[in-house]
Amino acid sequence: MIHLFLSPHLDDAVLSCGATIHQLVRGGDSVIILTVTAGDPSESTVDTPKIQDLHERWQAGETPTAARRREDEEAARMLGAQIIHLPIGDCIYRTARKGDAVIPLYPSEESLFGEVHPNDSALEALLATEIPQADVLYVPLGVGHHVDHQITRDWGLELKNRTPALAMKLYEEYPYVNNKIAIDRALSFYAPQTLTVEERLLEDEDVMAKVHAIACYKSQISTFWKGLDAMEKATRQSMMTAENGALVERYWLMSS
Ligand SMILES: [Zn+2]
Repeated sequence: MIHLFLSPHLDDAVLSCGATIHQLVRGGDSVIILTVTAGDPSESTVDTPKIQDLHERWQAGETPTAARRREDEEAARMLGAQIIHLPIGDCIYRTARKGDAVIPLYPSEESLFGEVHPNDSALEALLATEIPQADVLYVPLGVGHHVDHQITRDWGLELKNRTPALAMKLYEEYPYVNNKIAIDRALSFYAPQTLTVEERLLEDEDVMAKVHAIACYKSQISTFWKGLDAMEKATRQSMMTAENGALVERYWLMSS
């Protein structure tokens, strides 16, 4: 079986599904992680305070996207997954022409988590992108409402539309998933369709592999946690089921 994970950014699939990926590979299946916004800033990228703020936080040098791609390569190698990096830039780098001027599409924190800009051509580019042959497609549910997650979700849903035989699972994005309201908001997008949850039970070695793989994303740790110990604790906590404390990753299924 071939499992294809669509990851909006260089970390989402591992953060959210890293233990599942490890378990699948361990069982002899193939896993491909396709990251949508793995591209460098373009010539037209307009410097914004948001970009400066994130680059400062990432501490990833002069070419932060290249550094982030290397982090992803290391994490994927650790889990035994293959990777594909698409050349689309993160939303903070994307721009549009307005008359003679070039404007940044997402200059502020609010805009990152707002609606997709009408002049954003990322989804259009994705719809023209071929995906590798796969049996199961994993798509971000949309928790957190980040524009790159919305675009990746919409692309995934369209891929499923075009290829009904492809099985699809919607994954809960970690760490956004820690906010219950954010999950409900993500689910409301699919109304009137109600989705059913599937919990994938994981072994401790899968959870440990996930924790080690997340640690590869050095530039991203400070955004979410105080350090690696806090990351491990929070990651385990987020995977724990209320009923019996078993460790799981959660997927949502649409009825077909
Ligand atoms: Zn993301």
